[in-house]
Amino acid sequence: MKNFIFLQLKRVYSSTLFDNEPLLTKNPDDIDFENFIERIKRFAENKHQEIEQLHNRDDFRRDFLGDVSHELKTPIFTAQGYLLTVLDENLEDPALRRKYLERTNKSIERLSYIVKDLDMIAKLESGMKLEQDSFNIVKTLLDVFELFELKSSKKNIRIDFKEPYEFPIMVKADKDKIEQVIINLLSNSIKYGKVGGNTLVSIETHSVHQYLIKFEDDGLGIDENNLPRLFERFYRVEKSRSRDQGGSGLGLAIVKHIIEAHDQEVYVDSKIDKGSTFSFTINKVV
Ligand code: ADP
Repeated sequence: MKNFIFLQLKRVYSSTLFDNEPLLTKNPDDIDFENFIERIKRFAENKHQEIEQLHNRDDFRRDFLGDVSHELKTPIFTAQGYLLTVLDENLEDPALRRKYLERTNKSIERLSYIVKDLDMIAKLESGMKLEQDSFNIVKTLLDVFELFELKSSKKNIRIDFKEPYEFPIMVKADKDKIEQVIINLLSNSIKYGKVGGNTLVSIETHSVHQYLIKFEDDGLGIDENNLPRLFERFYRVEKSRSRDQGGSGLGLAIVKHIIEAHDQEVYVDSKIDKGSTFSFTINKVV
């Protein structure tokens, strides 16, 4: 009987968990059952967690695919609708034809925003390689301010530092990716900013090793109920508002991905009609 149990244990041992470990004992008389059962339990628990994770990942993929096709459907059908009208109805009025073609173009622009952001999300999710650049965050912010000069002036929005930074402030992170984060946050502060408003950017010390980069706008603001889901892909507070602004609904999901890949944090604080503050931490150069 002892030998039979011993053989069975040996089988479990080699077929499952401890492939690369020898059996606890070579002698059937010395089997440490307590230890053995403990290890089987741990093995089962780990496998359970692994399966759970695979299920979650699978759910995520399925939801993601559903979201993507839903997001693509709207602009495709809108563009198709306008094109068919122009083609089928033999529109005489050139002004109306032009209007419909312009709307088609707007839908195609939206499609290209979505595809560009999806491409980035896919790259981020398939495991992104981060560069370890040391760079002056003041200069990077200034470069992005410049990039938005035209867009912000159209809404008469001022983007500036909250206080002057006369000296370089050196940080360690992937420079291009952080630039993308800054672009997304500043772009939102213009899209959802009020005409004549202000976006103020500051660099604060967050901890011994980190700075906090803060973007404060006095725009439309976000209702408290929406804050917990704000960084989810395709989550929009107001679909029509975002679509009018050419948003893909992926901007903040990309921000979160990039910041978390750096093992850093991103925060939001907002009051409806008062404005929003987005911030993220970044490592100092030590
Ligand atoms: P979108 O492409 O729709 O802008 P984001 O992921 O960048 O997608 O943002 C998600 C939603 O969060 C937006 O649709 C908008 O409703 C809200 N939002 C983001 N930034 C701001 C902001 N600075 N002020 C007000 N609302 C914002």
